[in-house]
Amino acid sequence: MVIMQIRNPYTGEYDYELQVDDAKAIQEKVLLLRNNQQVWMEAGVQHRCEVMQQWKESLQQYQKEITKALSIDTGRNFIADLEVKGVLGMIDGWCYKAPLLLEEPEERPSVFDPSIKIREKKIPFMVVGVIGPWNFPITLSLIDAIPALIAGCSVLLKPSEVTPRYLDPLEESIKSVPELAGVLQLVRGGAEAGKVVVNTSDAICFTGSVATGKYIATACAQRFIPAFLELGGKDPAIVLQDADLEMATNAVLRAAAGATGQACQSLERIYVHRDIYANFLDLIVEKAKCVTLNNKEKSKGQIGPIIFEKQAAIIQQQIKNAKAKGAIVHCGGEIENHHGGLWCRPTVLSNVDHDMDMMTEETFGPIIPIMAFNTEEEAIKLANDSEFGLSASLFSRNEEAINRLAFRLEAGAVSINDGSLTNRIYDAEKSAFKKSGLNGSRMGDAGLLRFFRKRALLIQTDTPADLSGYEEVEL
Ligand code: NAD
Repeated sequence: MVIMQIRNPYTGEYDYELQVDDAKAIQEKVLLLRNNQQVWMEAGVQHRCEVMQQWKESLQQYQKEITKALSIDTGRNFIADLEVKGVLGMIDGWCYKAPLLLEEPEERPSVFDPSIKIREKKIPFMVVGVIGPWNFPITLSLIDAIPALIAGCSVLLKPSEVTPRYLDPLEESIKSVPELAGVLQLVRGGAEAGKVVVNTSDAICFTGSVATGKYIATACAQRFIPAFLELGGKDPAIVLQDADLEMATNAVLRAAAGATGQACQSLERIYVHRDIYANFLDLIVEKAKCVTLNNKEKSKGQIGPIIFEKQAAIIQQQIKNAKAKGAIVHCGGEIENHHGGLWCRPTVLSNVDHDMDMMTEETFGPIIPIMAFNTEEEAIKLANDSEFGLSASLFSRNEEAINRLAFRLEAGAVSINDGSLTNRIYDAEKSAFKKSGLNGSRMGDAGLLRFFRKRALLIQTDTPADLSGYEEVEL
Protein backbone atom coordinates (compact mmCIF):
# COMPACT_ATOMS: atom_id res chain seq x y z
CA MET A 1 0.00 0.00 0.00
CA VAL A 2 1.26 3.49 -0.90
CA ILE A 3 1.43 5.95 2.01
CA MET A 4 1.72 9.72 1.52
CA GLN A 5 3.21 11.92 4.26
CA ILE A 6 1.00 14.97 4.73
CA ARG A 7 2.24 18.37 5.87
CA ASN A 8 0.52 20.34 8.59
CA PRO A 9 0.25 23.94 7.31
CA TYR A 10 0.33 25.46 10.81
CA THR A 11 3.52 23.73 11.99
CA GLY A 12 5.17 22.62 8.76
CA GLU A 13 5.48 19.12 10.23
CA TYR A 14 4.60 15.99 8.29
CA ASP A 15 2.31 14.58 10.95
CA TYR A 16 -0.32 12.58 9.05
CA GLU A 17 -0.13 9.51 6.86
CA LEU A 18 -2.56 9.10 3.99
CA GLN A 19 -3.18 5.55 2.84
CA VAL A 20 -3.68 5.85 -0.89
CA ASP A 21 -6.32 3.82 -2.72
CA ASP A 22 -4.83 1.80 -5.57
CA ALA A 23 -6.53 1.26 -8.94
CA LYS A 24 -8.04 -2.05 -7.85
CA ALA A 25 -9.60 -0.57 -4.72
CA ILE A 26 -11.05 2.32 -6.75
CA GLN A 27 -12.47 -0.05 -9.38
CA GLU A 28 -14.18 -2.04 -6.62
CA LYS A 29 -15.78 1.14 -5.32
CA VAL A 30 -17.00 1.97 -8.82
CA LEU A 31 -18.53 -1.49 -9.16
CA LEU A 32 -20.41 -1.02 -5.91
CA LEU A 33 -21.65 2.39 -7.08
CA ARG A 34 -22.82 0.97 -10.41
CA ASN A 35 -24.68 -1.84 -8.65
CA ASN A 36 -26.55 0.56 -6.36
CA GLN A 37 -27.26 3.50 -8.62
CA GLN A 38 -30.34 2.21 -10.38
CA VAL A 39 -32.25 1.58 -7.15
CA TRP A 40 -31.16 5.01 -5.91
CA MET A 41 -32.38 6.65 -9.13
CA GLU A 42 -35.69 4.78 -9.15
CA ALA A 43 -36.38 5.54 -5.47
CA GLY A 44 -37.36 9.07 -6.54
CA VAL A 45 -36.20 12.51 -5.50
CA GLN A 46 -38.37 12.64 -2.38
CA HIS A 47 -36.76 9.51 -1.01
CA ARG A 48 -33.27 10.67 -1.92
CA CYS A 49 -33.89 13.93 -0.07
CA GLU A 50 -35.01 11.96 3.01
CA VAL A 51 -31.74 10.00 2.92
CA MET A 52 -29.78 13.23 2.47
CA GLN A 53 -31.53 14.65 5.53
CA GLN A 54 -30.48 11.55 7.50
CA TRP A 55 -26.95 12.27 6.35
CA LYS A 56 -27.29 15.87 7.48
CA GLU A 57 -28.18 14.62 10.98
CA SER A 58 -25.22 12.28 10.90
CA LEU A 59 -22.95 15.12 9.74
CA GLN A 60 -24.18 17.17 12.69
CA GLN A 61 -23.19 14.33 15.01
CA TYR A 62 -19.70 14.30 13.50
CA GLN A 63 -19.57 18.06 13.03
CA LYS A 64 -16.99 18.71 15.76
CA GLU A 65 -14.62 16.00 14.54
CA ILE A 66 -14.92 17.06 10.90
CA THR A 67 -14.40 20.74 11.72
CA LYS A 68 -11.42 19.98 13.96
CA ALA A 69 -9.73 17.82 11.32
CA LEU A 70 -10.43 20.42 8.63
CA SER A 71 -8.92 23.13 10.82
CA ILE A 72 -5.68 21.08 11.01
CA ASP A 73 -5.80 20.52 7.23
CA THR A 74 -6.10 24.25 6.54
CA GLY A 75 -4.56 25.96 9.60
CA ARG A 76 -7.68 28.03 10.19
CA ASN A 77 -10.63 27.63 12.57
CA PHE A 78 -13.27 30.15 11.52
CA ILE A 79 -13.36 29.12 7.86
CA ALA A 80 -13.30 25.40 8.78
CA ASP A 81 -16.38 25.96 10.93
CA LEU A 82 -18.01 28.01 8.16
CA GLU A 83 -17.28 25.34 5.55
CA VAL A 84 -18.95 22.54 7.53
CA LYS A 85 -21.99 24.69 8.32
CA GLY A 86 -22.16 25.58 4.63
CA VAL A 87 -22.34 21.91 3.68
CA LEU A 88 -25.39 21.45 5.94
CA GLY A 89 -26.96 24.45 4.20
CA MET A 90 -26.20 22.97 0.77
CA ILE A 91 -28.08 19.78 1.66
CA ASP A 92 -31.10 21.78 2.82
CA GLY A 93 -30.99 24.08 -0.19
CA TRP A 94 -30.96 21.31 -2.79
CA CYS A 95 -33.55 19.22 -0.88
CA TYR A 96 -35.84 22.26 -1.00
CA LYS A 97 -35.29 22.98 -4.69
CA ALA A 98 -34.84 19.56 -6.27
CA PRO A 99 -38.43 18.21 -6.13
CA LEU A 100 -39.64 21.26 -8.09
CA LEU A 101 -36.78 21.17 -10.58
CA LEU A 102 -37.16 17.46 -11.21
CA GLU A 103 -40.88 17.40 -11.92
CA GLU A 104 -41.28 15.54 -15.21
CA PRO A 105 -43.08 17.58 -17.89
CA GLU A 106 -46.52 16.29 -18.91
CA GLU A 107 -47.00 14.33 -22.13
CA ARG A 108 -47.66 16.78 -24.99
CA PRO A 109 -48.33 16.71 -28.74
CA SER A 110 -45.43 17.68 -30.98
CA VAL A 111 -45.77 21.07 -32.68
CA PHE A 112 -44.44 19.44 -35.87
CA ASP A 113 -47.04 16.66 -35.94
CA PRO A 114 -49.73 16.61 -33.23
CA SER A 115 -50.37 12.91 -33.81
CA ILE A 116 -46.95 12.27 -32.26
CA LYS A 117 -46.98 12.59 -28.48
CA ILE A 118 -43.80 13.48 -26.62
CA ARG A 119 -42.80 12.26 -23.19
CA GLU A 120 -39.43 13.38 -21.80
CA LYS A 121 -37.43 11.90 -18.97
CA LYS A 122 -34.27 13.02 -17.23
CA ILE A 123 -31.67 10.28 -16.97
CA PRO A 124 -28.93 10.88 -14.39
CA PHE A 125 -25.36 9.83 -15.03
CA MET A 126 -24.61 6.55 -13.32
CA VAL A 127 -21.28 7.45 -11.69
CA VAL A 128 -20.16 11.06 -11.33
CA GLY A 129 -16.49 11.42 -10.42
CA VAL A 130 -15.75 14.51 -8.33
CA ILE A 131 -12.16 15.70 -7.92
CA GLY A 132 -11.49 18.56 -5.51
CA PRO A 133 -8.73 21.05 -4.59
CA TRP A 134 -7.16 21.93 -1.21
CA ASN A 135 -8.22 25.55 -0.68
CA PHE A 136 -11.79 24.94 0.60
CA PRO A 137 -11.49 21.18 0.89
CA ILE A 138 -14.94 20.08 2.05
CA THR A 139 -16.95 22.83 0.33
CA LEU A 140 -15.40 22.19 -3.07
CA SER A 141 -15.79 18.42 -2.76
CA LEU A 142 -19.43 18.45 -1.72
CA ILE A 143 -20.64 21.43 -3.78
CA ASP A 144 -20.84 19.05 -6.77
CA ALA A 145 -21.37 15.76 -4.92
CA ILE A 146 -24.56 16.84 -3.11
CA PRO A 147 -26.59 17.89 -6.17
CA ALA A 148 -25.27 14.89 -8.14
CA LEU A 149 -26.55 12.53 -5.43
CA ILE A 150 -29.91 14.30 -5.24
CA ALA A 151 -30.15 14.04 -9.05
CA GLY A 152 -29.94 10.25 -8.67
CA CYS A 153 -26.32 9.71 -9.64
CA SER A 154 -23.84 7.81 -7.53
CA VAL A 155 -20.67 9.70 -6.66
CA LEU A 156 -17.01 8.73 -6.57
CA LEU A 157 -15.37 11.54 -4.64
CA LYS A 158 -11.60 12.16 -4.62
CA PRO A 159 -10.77 15.22 -2.54
CA SER A 160 -7.32 16.78 -2.51
CA GLU A 161 -4.45 14.77 -1.03
CA VAL A 162 -3.04 18.01 0.43
CA THR A 163 -5.85 18.30 3.01
CA PRO A 164 -7.11 14.78 3.75
CA ARG A 165 -7.56 14.63 7.55
CA TYR A 166 -11.26 15.46 7.53
CA LEU A 167 -12.01 12.46 5.30
CA ASP A 168 -11.93 10.01 8.22
CA PRO A 169 -14.82 11.60 10.19
CA LEU A 170 -16.60 12.47 6.94
CA GLU A 171 -16.48 8.82 5.92
CA GLU A 172 -17.84 7.79 9.33
CA SER A 173 -20.80 10.14 8.82
CA ILE A 174 -21.46 8.53 5.42
CA LYS A 175 -21.19 4.97 6.74
CA SER A 176 -23.77 5.65 9.41
CA VAL A 177 -26.35 6.07 6.60
CA PRO A 178 -25.92 2.73 4.78
CA GLU A 179 -28.11 3.64 1.82
CA LEU A 180 -25.94 6.69 1.19
CA ALA A 181 -22.73 4.68 1.62
CA GLY A 182 -23.90 2.54 -1.30
CA VAL A 183 -23.92 5.53 -3.64
CA LEU A 184 -21.19 7.78 -2.22
CA GLN A 185 -17.65 6.46 -1.98
CA LEU A 186 -14.48 8.36 -1.06
CA VAL A 187 -11.16 7.87 -2.81
CA ARG A 188 -7.92 8.83 -1.09
CA GLY A 189 -4.87 9.80 -3.09
CA GLY A 190 -3.34 12.25 -5.54
CA ALA A 191 -2.98 12.48 -9.32
CA GLU A 192 -2.73 8.71 -9.88
CA ALA A 193 -5.97 8.07 -7.98
CA GLY A 194 -7.55 11.02 -9.83
CA LYS A 195 -6.66 9.45 -13.17
CA VAL A 196 -8.44 6.24 -12.21
CA VAL A 197 -11.51 8.28 -11.21
CA VAL A 198 -11.47 9.97 -14.63
CA ASN A 199 -11.10 6.61 -16.37
CA THR A 200 -13.92 4.87 -14.53
CA SER A 201 -16.67 7.51 -14.11
CA ASP A 202 -19.41 8.60 -16.53
CA ALA A 203 -19.02 12.35 -15.97
CA ILE A 204 -16.38 14.40 -14.15
CA CYS A 205 -16.72 17.49 -11.96
CA PHE A 206 -13.27 18.91 -11.45
CA THR A 207 -12.18 21.90 -9.41
CA GLY A 208 -8.49 22.75 -9.58
CA SER A 209 -5.73 24.23 -11.68
CA VAL A 210 -5.84 24.97 -15.41
CA ALA A 211 -2.95 22.54 -16.01
CA THR A 212 -4.80 19.59 -14.45
CA GLY A 213 -8.06 20.79 -16.02
CA LYS A 214 -6.49 20.55 -19.48
CA TYR A 215 -5.35 17.02 -18.78
CA ILE A 216 -8.80 16.03 -17.51
CA ALA A 217 -10.63 17.68 -20.42
CA THR A 218 -8.46 15.71 -22.84
CA ALA A 219 -8.90 12.41 -20.97
CA CYS A 220 -12.68 12.94 -20.80
CA ALA A 221 -12.85 13.80 -24.51
CA GLN A 222 -11.04 10.53 -25.29
CA ARG A 223 -13.74 8.71 -23.33
CA PHE A 224 -16.62 10.86 -24.70
CA ILE A 225 -17.77 11.83 -21.23
CA PRO A 226 -18.54 15.38 -20.05
CA ALA A 227 -16.05 17.31 -17.95
CA PHE A 228 -17.43 20.13 -15.80
CA LEU A 229 -14.34 22.21 -15.08
CA GLU A 230 -14.00 24.95 -12.46
CA LEU A 231 -10.46 26.25 -12.78
CA GLY A 232 -8.26 29.17 -11.85
CA GLY A 233 -8.89 32.88 -11.90
CA LYS A 234 -7.15 36.25 -12.03
CA ASP A 235 -10.09 38.36 -10.97
CA PRO A 236 -9.89 42.10 -11.66
CA ALA A 237 -11.63 44.91 -9.78
CA ILE A 238 -12.36 48.25 -11.42
CA VAL A 239 -12.84 51.20 -9.07
CA LEU A 240 -14.46 54.17 -10.83
CA GLN A 241 -13.89 57.82 -9.94
CA ASP A 242 -17.16 58.16 -7.99
CA ALA A 243 -16.79 54.97 -5.90
CA ASP A 244 -17.21 55.08 -2.13
CA LEU A 245 -13.55 54.78 -1.15
CA GLU A 246 -14.09 53.59 2.40
CA MET A 247 -16.41 50.82 1.23
CA ALA A 248 -14.33 49.89 -1.84
CA THR A 249 -11.06 49.57 0.10
CA ASN A 250 -12.76 47.42 2.76
CA ALA A 251 -14.31 45.14 0.14
CA VAL A 252 -11.17 44.86 -2.00
CA LEU A 253 -9.00 44.06 1.02
CA ARG A 254 -11.42 41.39 2.24
CA ALA A 255 -11.88 39.86 -1.23
CA ALA A 256 -8.14 39.86 -1.96
CA ALA A 257 -6.68 38.85 1.41
CA GLY A 258 -9.53 36.84 2.98
CA ALA A 259 -8.68 33.14 3.31
CA THR A 260 -5.07 34.32 2.69
CA GLY A 261 -6.06 34.91 -0.94
CA GLN A 262 -6.38 31.15 -1.47
CA ALA A 263 -9.66 31.35 -3.34
CA CYS A 264 -10.29 31.07 -7.06
CA GLN A 265 -12.49 34.18 -6.93
CA SER A 266 -10.01 36.29 -4.92
CA LEU A 267 -9.41 39.74 -6.35
CA GLU A 268 -5.89 39.67 -7.80
CA ARG A 269 -5.67 42.88 -9.92
CA ILE A 270 -7.04 46.27 -8.95
CA TYR A 271 -7.57 49.09 -11.46
CA VAL A 272 -8.36 52.47 -9.91
CA HIS A 273 -9.30 55.73 -11.65
CA ARG A 274 -6.31 58.06 -11.63
CA ASP A 275 -8.21 60.87 -9.84
CA ILE A 276 -8.71 58.71 -6.74
CA TYR A 277 -5.71 56.40 -7.14
CA ALA A 278 -3.45 58.06 -4.52
CA ASN A 279 -6.23 58.18 -1.90
CA PHE A 280 -7.25 54.59 -2.63
CA LEU A 281 -3.66 53.40 -2.32
CA ASP A 282 -3.03 55.25 0.98
CA LEU A 283 -6.26 53.97 2.50
CA ILE A 284 -5.85 50.33 1.50
CA VAL A 285 -2.20 50.27 2.65
CA GLU A 286 -3.27 51.69 6.01
CA LYS A 287 -5.95 49.00 6.36
CA ALA A 288 -3.76 46.17 5.03
CA LYS A 289 -1.13 46.95 7.68
CA CYS A 290 -3.75 46.30 10.39
CA VAL A 291 -4.60 42.76 9.20
CA THR A 292 -3.54 40.19 11.79
CA LEU A 293 -2.14 36.67 11.31
CA ASN A 294 -3.23 33.67 13.35
CA ASN A 295 0.39 32.53 13.76
CA LYS A 296 0.66 33.06 17.52
CA GLU A 297 -2.68 31.56 18.45
CA LYS A 298 -4.69 29.71 15.86
CA SER A 299 -7.95 31.01 17.26
CA LYS A 300 -6.84 34.67 17.02
CA GLY A 301 -6.07 36.72 13.90
CA GLN A 302 -7.71 37.36 10.56
CA ILE A 303 -5.71 35.25 8.14
CA GLY A 304 -4.26 31.76 8.35
CA PRO A 305 -1.14 30.15 6.91
CA ILE A 306 -0.49 29.31 3.28
CA ILE A 307 -1.88 25.78 3.09
CA PHE A 308 0.20 24.41 0.23
CA GLU A 309 3.96 24.90 0.56
CA LYS A 310 4.46 25.05 -3.23
CA GLN A 311 2.04 27.97 -3.42
CA ALA A 312 4.28 29.99 -1.08
CA ALA A 313 7.13 29.59 -3.57
CA ILE A 314 4.88 30.82 -6.41
CA ILE A 315 3.83 33.89 -4.40
CA GLN A 316 7.45 34.66 -3.50
CA GLN A 317 8.57 34.29 -7.11
CA GLN A 318 5.83 36.61 -8.37
CA ILE A 319 6.77 39.29 -5.82
CA LYS A 320 10.44 38.97 -6.81
CA ASN A 321 9.57 39.19 -10.52
CA ALA A 322 7.38 42.29 -9.96
CA LYS A 323 10.04 44.04 -7.83
CA ALA A 324 12.72 43.32 -10.43
CA LYS A 325 10.50 45.02 -13.02
CA GLY A 326 9.96 48.13 -10.89
CA ALA A 327 7.00 47.39 -8.62
CA ILE A 328 6.88 49.19 -5.26
CA VAL A 329 5.87 47.11 -2.23
CA HIS A 330 3.97 49.23 0.31
CA CYS A 331 3.37 46.56 2.95
CA GLY A 332 3.87 42.82 3.40
CA GLY A 333 5.94 41.34 0.59
CA GLU A 334 7.60 38.50 2.49
CA ILE A 335 6.79 34.88 3.18
CA GLU A 336 7.13 34.62 6.97
CA ASN A 337 8.11 31.34 8.59
CA HIS A 338 6.63 30.98 12.08
CA HIS A 339 7.36 27.68 13.85
CA GLY A 340 7.46 25.89 10.46
CA GLY A 341 4.20 27.29 9.05
CA LEU A 342 4.28 29.87 6.25
CA TRP A 343 2.31 33.12 6.35
CA CYS A 344 2.08 36.13 4.06
CA ARG A 345 0.69 39.49 5.15
CA PRO A 346 -1.54 41.42 2.74
CA THR A 347 0.89 42.84 0.23
CA VAL A 348 -0.03 46.03 -1.61
CA LEU A 349 2.01 46.93 -4.70
CA SER A 350 1.98 49.91 -7.03
CA ASN A 351 3.92 50.72 -10.21
CA VAL A 352 2.80 47.39 -11.66
CA ASP A 353 1.98 46.50 -15.26
CA HIS A 354 0.98 43.53 -17.40
CA ASP A 355 4.60 42.58 -18.13
CA MET A 356 4.75 41.20 -14.60
CA ASP A 357 3.73 37.58 -13.84
CA MET A 358 1.72 38.90 -10.89
CA MET A 359 -0.67 40.67 -13.28
CA THR A 360 -1.18 37.74 -15.65
CA GLU A 361 -0.73 34.46 -13.74
CA GLU A 362 -2.79 33.20 -10.83
CA THR A 363 -1.16 34.16 -7.52
CA PHE A 364 -3.43 32.50 -4.93
CA GLY A 365 -2.10 34.67 -2.12
CA PRO A 366 -3.07 37.92 -0.30
CA ILE A 367 -1.44 40.11 -2.94
CA ILE A 368 -3.00 43.40 -4.06
CA PRO A 369 -1.32 44.99 -7.10
CA ILE A 370 -2.91 48.33 -7.99
CA MET A 371 -2.79 50.15 -11.34
CA ALA A 372 -4.22 53.55 -12.30
CA PHE A 373 -6.40 54.06 -15.39
CA ASN A 374 -7.57 57.23 -17.14
CA THR A 375 -10.66 56.20 -19.11
CA GLU A 376 -13.40 53.58 -18.86
CA GLU A 377 -12.20 52.05 -22.13
CA GLU A 378 -8.73 51.63 -20.70
CA ALA A 379 -10.11 50.02 -17.54
CA ILE A 380 -12.17 47.48 -19.50
CA LYS A 381 -9.23 46.71 -21.77
CA LEU A 382 -6.92 46.08 -18.81
CA ALA A 383 -9.49 43.96 -16.94
CA ASN A 384 -10.16 41.82 -20.03
CA ASP A 385 -6.46 41.43 -20.85
CA SER A 386 -6.26 37.98 -19.23
CA GLU A 387 -6.38 34.29 -20.08
CA PHE A 388 -8.82 33.88 -17.21
CA GLY A 389 -12.48 34.86 -16.95
CA LEU A 390 -13.82 33.55 -13.66
CA SER A 391 -15.28 36.65 -12.02
CA ALA A 392 -14.71 40.38 -11.55
CA SER A 393 -15.75 43.41 -9.48
CA LEU A 394 -16.92 46.89 -10.29
CA PHE A 395 -17.19 49.76 -7.81
CA SER A 396 -19.23 52.87 -8.58
CA ARG A 397 -22.16 54.90 -7.24
CA ASN A 398 -23.36 55.59 -10.77
CA GLU A 399 -25.96 53.10 -11.96
CA GLU A 400 -25.57 54.13 -15.60
CA ALA A 401 -21.83 53.50 -15.49
CA ILE A 402 -22.41 50.13 -13.86
CA ASN A 403 -24.87 49.11 -16.58
CA ARG A 404 -22.55 50.40 -19.26
CA LEU A 405 -19.47 48.51 -18.07
CA ALA A 406 -20.47 45.44 -16.07
CA PHE A 407 -21.64 43.38 -19.05
CA ARG A 408 -18.46 44.17 -20.98
CA LEU A 409 -16.29 42.36 -18.45
CA GLU A 410 -15.22 38.97 -19.80
CA ALA A 411 -16.12 36.97 -16.70
CA GLY A 412 -18.87 34.66 -15.54
CA ALA A 413 -19.87 36.71 -12.51
CA VAL A 414 -19.44 40.40 -11.71
CA SER A 415 -19.82 41.59 -8.11
CA ILE A 416 -21.05 45.16 -8.02
CA ASN A 417 -19.84 47.29 -5.09
CA ASP A 418 -18.39 44.21 -3.42
CA GLY A 419 -15.89 41.47 -4.20
CA SER A 420 -15.98 37.67 -4.61
CA LEU A 421 -19.71 37.37 -3.93
CA THR A 422 -19.79 33.98 -5.64
CA ASN A 423 -18.19 32.48 -2.53
CA ARG A 424 -21.52 32.77 -0.72
CA ILE A 425 -24.22 33.43 -3.32
CA TYR A 426 -24.91 30.11 -5.01
CA ASP A 427 -28.21 30.78 -6.76
CA ALA A 428 -27.04 32.92 -9.68
CA GLU A 429 -26.19 30.85 -12.73
CA LYS A 430 -22.77 31.70 -14.15
CA SER A 431 -20.30 30.23 -16.59
CA ALA A 432 -16.55 30.30 -16.32
CA PHE A 433 -15.16 32.25 -19.30
CA LYS A 434 -11.88 31.58 -21.12
CA LYS A 435 -9.46 29.27 -19.29
CA SER A 436 -11.37 29.50 -16.01
CA GLY A 437 -13.56 26.55 -16.84
CA LEU A 438 -15.83 24.64 -19.14
CA ASN A 439 -19.42 23.41 -19.31
CA GLY A 440 -22.55 23.80 -17.19
CA SER A 441 -22.70 26.11 -14.19
CA ARG A 442 -22.48 24.64 -10.69
CA MET A 443 -24.45 27.66 -9.48
CA GLY A 444 -28.17 28.20 -9.92
CA ASP A 445 -30.60 25.50 -11.12
CA ALA A 446 -28.02 24.25 -13.63
CA GLY A 447 -26.00 23.01 -10.64
CA LEU A 448 -28.49 20.14 -10.44
CA LEU A 449 -29.83 19.93 -13.99
CA ARG A 450 -26.38 19.38 -15.55
CA PHE A 451 -26.34 15.86 -14.09
CA PHE A 452 -29.01 14.62 -16.51
CA ARG A 453 -29.20 13.57 -20.08
CA LYS A 454 -32.69 13.73 -21.60
CA ARG A 455 -34.51 10.80 -23.09
CA ALA A 456 -37.53 11.54 -25.30
CA LEU A 457 -40.29 9.04 -26.03
CA LEU A 458 -41.91 9.85 -29.39
CA ILE A 459 -45.29 8.08 -29.41
CA GLN A 460 -47.13 7.60 -32.69
CA THR A 461 -50.91 7.80 -32.12
CA ASP A 462 -51.83 7.59 -35.82
CA THR A 463 -50.87 5.21 -38.61
CA PRO A 464 -47.12 5.42 -39.32
CA ALA A 465 -46.23 6.80 -42.75
CA ASP A 466 -45.16 4.22 -45.31
CA LEU A 467 -42.53 4.67 -48.01
CA SER A 468 -45.14 5.66 -50.63
CA GLY A 469 -45.02 9.15 -49.17
CA TYR A 470 -41.38 9.34 -50.26
CA GLU A 471 -42.05 8.75 -54.00
CA GLU A 472 -39.41 10.63 -56.07
CA VAL A 473 -40.47 13.89 -57.79
CA GLU A 474 -39.28 16.16 -60.62
CA LEU A 475 -37.48 19.28 -59.28
P1 NAD B 1 -4.66 20.77 -8.78
O1 NAD B 1 -5.10 20.87 -10.18
O2 NAD B 1 -3.23 20.63 -8.49
O3 NAD B 1 -5.36 19.53 -8.05
C1 NAD B 1 -6.76 19.43 -7.96
C2 NAD B 1 -7.15 17.98 -7.78
O4 NAD B 1 -6.81 17.26 -8.96
C3 NAD B 1 -6.47 17.26 -6.63
O5 NAD B 1 -7.42 16.44 -6.00
C4 NAD B 1 -5.41 16.43 -7.34
O6 NAD B 1 -5.08 15.25 -6.63
C5 NAD B 1 -6.12 16.08 -8.62
N1 NAD B 1 -5.25 15.75 -9.74
C6 NAD B 1 -4.01 16.22 -10.00
N2 NAD B 1 -3.56 15.72 -11.17
C7 NAD B 1 -4.53 14.93 -11.66
C8 NAD B 1 -4.67 14.15 -12.84
N3 NAD B 1 -3.69 14.08 -13.76
N4 NAD B 1 -5.81 13.47 -13.03
C9 NAD B 1 -6.82 13.54 -12.14
N5 NAD B 1 -6.75 14.25 -10.99
C10 NAD B 1 -5.61 14.94 -10.76
O7 NAD B 1 -5.28 22.06 -8.05
P2 NAD B 1 -5.08 22.52 -6.53
O8 NAD B 1 -3.70 23.09 -6.40
O9 NAD B 1 -5.51 21.45 -5.60
O10 NAD B 1 -6.16 23.68 -6.40
C11 NAD B 1 -5.88 25.02 -6.65
C12 NAD B 1 -6.47 25.44 -7.97
O11 NAD B 1 -7.87 25.23 -7.94
C13 NAD B 1 -6.29 26.91 -8.26
O12 NAD B 1 -5.89 27.08 -9.60
C14 NAD B 1 -7.68 27.49 -8.06
O13 NAD B 1 -7.94 28.66 -8.77
C15 NAD B 1 -8.54 26.36 -8.47
N6 NAD B 1 -9.87 26.49 -7.90
C16 NAD B 1 -10.93 26.78 -8.72
C17 NAD B 1 -12.20 26.97 -8.18
C18 NAD B 1 -13.39 27.30 -9.06
O14 NAD B 1 -14.52 27.15 -8.61
N7 NAD B 1 -13.18 27.76 -10.28
C19 NAD B 1 -12.38 26.85 -6.82
C20 NAD B 1 -11.29 26.56 -6.02
C21 NAD B 1 -10.04 26.37 -6.57
